[in-house]
This record gives sequence, structure tokens and C-alpha cells, in this order.
Amino acid sequence: MREDRQAVLLQLAEEIHRAAAIVIGGGSGLSSAAGYDHYHWSPAFDDILGPFRDNYGFPSPMAVFYYCFSSFGAEWAYYSRYIRAMWDAPTGQPYLDLRAMVSDKPVHVLTTNVDRQFFRVFPEEQICAFQGDFGYCQCSQPCRDAIWENRSLVEALTAQLDGVSLPEDAVPRCPDCGRVLVPWVRDDTFLEGAYWHQAWTATMIFSGTG
Ligand SMILES: [Zn+2]
Repeated sequence: MREDRQAVLLQLAEEIHRAAAIVIGGGSGLSSAAGYDHYHWSPAFDDILGPFRDNYGFPSPMAVFYYCFSSFGAEWAYYSRYIRAMWDAPTGQPYLDLRAMVSDKPVHVLTTNVDRQFFRVFPEEQICAFQGDFGYCQCSQPCRDAIWENRSLVEALTAQLDGVSLPEDAVPRCPDCGRVLVPWVRDDTFLEGAYWHQAWTATMIFSGTG
């Protein structure tokens, strides 16, 4: 079995070496291998999100995204802590290894990962975050075609946390319509706007399917 794997890896290395360009399809296993398992509790998030896990009994960090909170303050308390953890997390070794493996090739990334790790190792214009990314917010309506990078926002919000609560008046809202902002991650309000379409079109052109 071990020899079989070795043969597969050698073949893969050869294919990468011979390739003129590479499209990377990145899924959650890559982040899990980096220690950032969003679908099970793991050390990377235990300490940071433990108070929320204990308070609500969430089965995993990502499960919270589908939970109906009783207030926007409670919801954004979690979002702010979770999203900040993603911003603050060191770049995962598998991502660094991946970048090194393809460093001499034209590369484009199509990913369903939403935890910013790909943005650490490849330029933004080479990435299509098909399901969005927690590093951006959008209007929950959405009333306009805009997403906002949220690092400074979640740093400010986490400074106002009281345990698992955030004051309601600190909840971030759309500057135009006043509705609550939500993470730019696919749900029933997900914004497939200009940014998303540009990235998707670039992916199709790069892969020769567009
Ligand atoms: Zn709005």
C-alpha cells in the first residue's frame, strides 16, 4: 500500500513538472490537513470558540453558520470571534507546500474553502472563491453589489465581546439600507455579484472552458 502511494505521488509530481499551467481545486480537506478543521472541533479553534461551543452545544465551528440565533448581537458575537480566528490563524503548511510545488507555473485556484487560507499564498486575481469567503461581508438584503473586507471590523467587534454576547448597537449594518451585514459565504442571501462573476469568468478562461 505504501509503495502504491509512493508511485501515485511520483506520478503526480511528474505530471505537475510537465504541466504548462495548473488549475487547483481546493476543498476542506486541505484546511483540515493544515489543522483548521471547520467541520469538527479541533485544537486550532477549541480555546477561541470554546465558550460558544459550551454555551450552545454546537457540533462544529461551521455548524453555527446554520444556527438560528435569538438576536443579531448573539450571532455577530460568534461571527466576529470565528472570523477573527481565521484572520489570525497562521498560514497552514499544506498551503505553503502547495505554493512551493507550483511556484514556476501559471496557476489558478477554484476553491470551496471560505477561511482565507488560499488568499495567503496566491494573488487574489488567481482565486475563485466559489462559495465566498469569511474575510468579506455583504448586505443581507443584499441591496447593492458590494462586499467589504472585514479584518478591522472583527477586531473592533471582538474588543466589545462580553463572553458570548455582543451589544446590539455594535452589530454591523449596511451603510445604504441599514440591514444587518452577513459574512460573504453561500447561504440563501449569498451575493453572486461583480466580484464573484469576475473570478468565475477568469477561472473558465484559464481552464479553457470559457
Ligand atoms: Zn443594504
